[in-house]
Amino acid sequence: MTKHLLAPSILSADFMRLTEEIGACESAGADWIHVDVMDGHFVPNITMGPFIVEACKRATKLPLDVHLMIEKPERHLEAFAKAGASVLTVHVEACPHLHRTLQQIKSLGCIAGVALNPGTPSGALEAVLTEADLVLVMSVNPGYSGQKFIPEAVARVRDIRGRLDALGSSAWLEVDGGIDADTLPKMKKAGATVFVSATAVFKHPQGTEAGMKALQNVIASPSDSEWRSNLN
Ligand code: ZN
Repeated sequence: MTKHLLAPSILSADFMRLTEEIGACESAGADWIHVDVMDGHFVPNITMGPFIVEACKRATKLPLDVHLMIEKPERHLEAFAKAGASVLTVHVEACPHLHRTLQQIKSLGCIAGVALNPGTPSGALEAVLTEADLVLVMSVNPGYSGQKFIPEAVARVRDIRGRLDALGSSAWLEVDGGIDADTLPKMKKAGATVFVSATAVFKHPQGTEAGMKALQNVIASPSDSEWRSNLN
């Protein structure tokens, strides 16, 4: 059975209570903690750097899933690895030497991820798919939390799932942007295996643990195709 992971993004967490917020995710069964790094160049917003990753590392034993929405990420990989990142994901749009950058991530002992913006054709990944441990499909334009899900991302996930399966790749297929109880099942059905969620977890009206539980319930409920295969 396919393993599905939930990776809450601290982008929507209360930073005055970051340890508590991460602790709530961990006790509610989070698999990874997702850290959205933005540089004000590759994306308009500026968020956090290795300093916050290092602080997260002290707050949790969970793997830190670091998503680099930055220009020239190769310059900063070592700093993020030293700060405690387990996964380092770079954007295909930011890396002219993507193959080399993915190898650099692996040489630092991290899981090597590659991300695609909504406007980038999935064929742009073809040459590096065998090298990637993880593919991240953006389902909003990167920059801010709380944006509306782009429905076309479902077909892109299905397309990339097909490409990974054709290669016999066991890479994680991660989705990021507008993931909530409504959009998660669609992405799961399309073949995604890691679900990033910021707002639906940290801005849940009943609090962070309730936000986690709501998404876990959705992940645990079988999709239509699984129902069918269970009946056969
Ligand atoms: Zn992200």
